[in-house]
Amino acid sequence: MSNDDLVENLIKIGCIKSDKVMNAFKKVDRKNFVPEKFRKLAYSDSPLPIGPGATISQPLTVAFMTEALDVEKNNKVLEIGTGSGYQAAVLSKLCTKVVTIEVSPNLVKFAGKNLKNYKKVKVIEGDGFNGFEKESPYDRIISTAHVSEIPFIWFDQLKENGKIVAPIGTKDYQRLVLFEKKKGKIIEADLGFPCVFVPMK
Ligand code: SAH
Repeated sequence: MSNDDLVENLIKIGCIKSDKVMNAFKKVDRKNFVPEKFRKLAYSDSPLPIGPGATISQPLTVAFMTEALDVEKNNKVLEIGTGSGYQAAVLSKLCTKVVTIEVSPNLVKFAGKNLKNYKKVKVIEGDGFNGFEKESPYDRIISTAHVSEIPFIWFDQLKENGKIVAPIGTKDYQRLVLFEKKKGKIIEADLGFPCVFVPMK
């Protein structure tokens, strides 16, 4: 199997819908974000362990979230939960800048190595609950760790007409939710996509 096979599968199952997301996935080889011992499974549609309390998300979920986030060329994006850096790498092919926050120092190192050729991605070590004020405001925010509700500070750091996609729910069951900031108000839509992400620490 190759990275193109992974992309073909995501198109077939309907998680990649647009040409721009398809091209972004084609440009990022998932193999380079998977620990050595799992390389053989890099192109299978499954999450893989990358360290304690962390996984590289299932490609299907990365594709669904990337489509839902609706990233535009001139956007600045904030990601919470860098993990392997794969989601950030895909997003960087669609926009101007990706700022991504990771709480685990080991994963900051791992992602930094994986992302060394991705100049548009900036990895920050820190607690994503606070967002990242210094680079705000953002056009888009994506959380790849689950929360029971969105920390209000994320809304503060989001631009007018900005969007957030995040898994909201309990430890065992979450659904992806899209939040949009319109005239200063937050509009919420359940995307009907069930998932299980690791919790935010
Ligand atoms: N987006 C990643 C998958 C992330 S898994 C990828 O593409 O590979 C969720 C990540 O969130 C884990 O790496 C975990 O360490 C991180 N995390 C958990 N709590 C966090 C917090 N408070 N702030 C930032 N990152 C956090």
